[in-house]
Amino acid sequence: MATAVLNDPSEKSANLTDFHGVEPHPSVPTRKGIAKGQLLIDGKWRDSSSGETMTTTDPTTEAPITAVAKATPEDAQAAIDAAYAAFEEGPWGKMHHEERAKILFRMADLLDERADDFAIREAMDMGMPYTDFRTIIMPHCSGLFRFFGGQAMSAMNGGYRTSYEQTIRILTRREPLGVVAAITPWNFPLALTCSKMAPGLAAGNCMVHKPASDTPLTALALAQVAMDAGVPAGVYNLITGPGGSIGDVLVKSPKVDKIAFTGSTSVGENLIRNGADTVKHMTMELGGKSPNIIFADADIDAAVQAAFWGIFWNKGEVCVAGSRLLVERPIYDEIVEKLTVMAKAAILGDPLDAKTQIGPIATKPEYDKILTYIESGKQSSARLTAGGGTRKINGKGLFIEPTLFADATNDLKISREEIFGPVLPIIPFEGEEEAVRIANDTTYGLASGIQTRDLGRALRIADRIKAGTVWINTWHKYHPNAPFGGYKMSGYGREHGAEALENYMQYKTAWANLG
Ligand code: NAP
Repeated sequence: MATAVLNDPSEKSANLTDFHGVEPHPSVPTRKGIAKGQLLIDGKWRDSSSGETMTTTDPTTEAPITAVAKATPEDAQAAIDAAYAAFEEGPWGKMHHEERAKILFRMADLLDERADDFAIREAMDMGMPYTDFRTIIMPHCSGLFRFFGGQAMSAMNGGYRTSYEQTIRILTRREPLGVVAAITPWNFPLALTCSKMAPGLAAGNCMVHKPASDTPLTALALAQVAMDAGVPAGVYNLITGPGGSIGDVLVKSPKVDKIAFTGSTSVGENLIRNGADTVKHMTMELGGKSPNIIFADADIDAAVQAAFWGIFWNKGEVCVAGSRLLVERPIYDEIVEKLTVMAKAAILGDPLDAKTQIGPIATKPEYDKILTYIESGKQSSARLTAGGGTRKINGKGLFIEPTLFADATNDLKISREEIFGPVLPIIPFEGEEEAVRIANDTTYGLASGIQTRDLGRALRIADRIKAGTVWINTWHKYHPNAPFGGYKMSGYGREHGAEALENYMQYKTAWANLG
């Protein structure tokens, strides 16, 4: 039988995992059968009202994994009605914050207990290496429920204030918004769901989740976790189905108070327009084209690691990927050469193989789209130094080689548009001013990075970069406590941190005249 990885984990590539400090997981399980997915509405699992299903496909084997209910607009309405009734009549929004917190903590514990199942589902559904999921994603997801459980206990308390008039007392109260619809993409299915469900539930809202049609498998398991942890019926609803039809019902319904969206800028723009008639609260986590700037005084090996994993982690299917590399002239050739060696040595393979560093592209349309961008790069003035092709394992799999285009300029298509795949244009620059100018010359503003030993310069530039995240001498750092979100066309609102909770509640101010 052919090997499940491409390239040997030789000495050449042995240091590739250093950046995350991730060691291959000691025991990686094999594929397993996944039960057919249903809709969760008002605490009951059921089929779509039409009886129709969609098929989800494994990008490594290109074989179907399982069938999942294809919700109709009527099912979406039923989920909204259930959430609305649970909010208006049920205990969740009125429950003491500490009681809600206990349930969130139970969800966190159940996530950890079922980590293996979640990791297999994400590996099969979207091609994320099992090791990355178990080591990085899973602790983050359960951490989100613990963090927001803790926030619920403290931050949901109101305040007591005074006014100009001696007899007046002001009481502020924090209340949930009502019904929140969470719409999530396929690239970090579980993490991006938890980043909405945890603060949404903590604040006392009733939720309807619509996951991406291509990767619904962890959403199904998370909804079961919510049920098993004691979330009351109707508070947590899950509808799987096409965004174009059921998404519209969610966005236009007057019973839905907020849309928490992560996805492409074009769909986000559409949601903002469609939500305007009902003046929806919205948070928008959209696309990116994030610049990573390496200065000549940087620790070269560390900077190369940050650049490599900044773009190639999760096969570049990351909104905050360091997808434009800016390198100062004196070290330009050295950086290109080191990255080229790493890219050629990277271990592509089955995400359910412990040695795999880079899995397959999640879906065929994304795979085709990335190849179109690679072709555009090949036709441009940039110079291909690594990758540019595809790979197969046992004749199957949507694998794309880590691809580098040196001598790129910021006006090329591959430098301007979000490719959302393992493709990196490398742009030379001279001096701080030019670096900042190129970095900010984009419609996006999600993340950025500065690699330098000069902390003064790093902080000076961090102030000038128009992006919600700046990583200094590192990349891909996240914590439930640290606010995350975009500037410009990368969106608005924040996930993670106490700031996220603010997006899921509203303030009431009561004025009392003591007479
Ligand atoms: P997408 O096409 O915008 O889809 C995102 C979600 O929206 C999916 O659940 C999709 O459902 C749904 N949807 C599609 N059309 C809709 C409509 N008319 N009304 C309501 N919902 C609709 O994005 P994607 O391709 O899944 O994800 C990749 C994008 O997400 C990239 O641009 C990436 O940068 C961005 N992203 C941003 C962040 C961040 O934090 N800023 C994080 C991750 C990803 P279907 O699957 O059924 O079409």
